[in-house]
Amino acid sequence: MSVVHAPISADHAGAILTIDLAAITENWRILSRKLKPGCDCGAVVKADAYGLGAPNIATALAGAGCKTFYVAHLGEGIELRKVLGREPRIIVMHGANPGLEGDIFKHGLIPVLSTPDQIAMWRTFASNADALQETIIQVDTGMNRLGLSNKEFTEHLNDPDCFQGLTPLALMSHLACAGTSEHPLNTAQLEQFTSALSAFRTKFPDAKGTLSNSSGIFLGEAWHHDYARPGAALYGLNPQPGNKNPMLSVARLQAKILQIRRVDSTETVGYGATFKAADGMKLATVSVGYADGFLRSLSNTGTALLDGFPIRVAGIVSMDLLTFDVSNVPDSSLRPGAMIDILSQEHTADDLADNAGTIGYEILTGLGQRYARRYLPANVPGLRS
Ligand SMILES: *Cc1c(COP(=O)(O)O)cnc(C)c1O
Repeated sequence: MSVVHAPISADHAGAILTIDLAAITENWRILSRKLKPGCDCGAVVKADAYGLGAPNIATALAGAGCKTFYVAHLGEGIELRKVLGREPRIIVMHGANPGLEGDIFKHGLIPVLSTPDQIAMWRTFASNADALQETIIQVDTGMNRLGLSNKEFTEHLNDPDCFQGLTPLALMSHLACAGTSEHPLNTAQLEQFTSALSAFRTKFPDAKGTLSNSSGIFLGEAWHHDYARPGAALYGLNPQPGNKNPMLSVARLQAKILQIRRVDSTETVGYGATFKAADGMKLATVSVGYADGFLRSLSNTGTALLDGFPIRVAGIVSMDLLTFDVSNVPDSSLRPGAMIDILSQEHTADDLADNAGTIGYEILTGLGQRYARRYLPANVPGLRS
């Protein structure tokens, strides 16, 4: 997001990435409707909105009524402030590194404070700046990644100085297993968070609670509290793996065929000669490779669609190229310039992730910078034909 890439034209690119802003705003509405009344549905747009383009997506979501945005890094927050103007809340989940409180303040960002040090630094800053500035305090409830431990949290509450001068908007925690609804940690974390929140409210009666990511929203209203922080589901990833995906498909990635060839059983395909051809096999090569985020672990396993026909990667994925076995595709569909659907409504980032032994999040955030990117406007339904 901080690097501005000149737009790449579809003619010049090896593949076209189409991002449906109408589907993203509709996904935000689906999640909003799912939340209990009064719960604020925000949008997590960290990592360039999961690789799909934070400026366009955040602008579309703000237009749809989203008022709260979450980023990971301070730099992301500063860039997003330029795009969104003064109004929306921007929450920096990694907080401010010591010495950078002034930058947070200047850009009107809300830091998540997760460590005793971050809290102490902010307290000093707030007393010197003589200005109220909201913060969010994070407690750990079982993820053991960021946030005050139970013990630290209790110590802070019991010490009249610790939260002195802070204006906490909310108490926050993060779920470790929300994608697996029956996992016992979901209830354990909920109980710990709810009790921390009521203790926090004895000191800060107006403090809100924020616990749920996309999957957490689907666990039920008890997990919703006051602010929800969905990311993945906005971008079409399935918040309930193993069940039907309630979200609309957002991303389509089409790769242009560079060359078609016919080979026989004496030949092999690609680096290392790992794929042995069969007689009369047809191959199609496209200019997408691991430098574009098509994982090398998809060698010989990744699948895609060509005019609706399922096809599979043949051989090792190269840096800029990969080859598909297209033997089952009619010749009428096989010509240079024809498009192979690497990501589509029928074959999503979650599907490709399954092929690679990873999650859809990694596929989206890994999408490269060489694609021609097209944004379908938020008010026109696009991919859902
Ligand atoms: C990334 C992140 C989210 C969003 O999670 P999704 O699973 O993408 O909805 C929410 N909260 C925190 C703290 C995160 O790091």
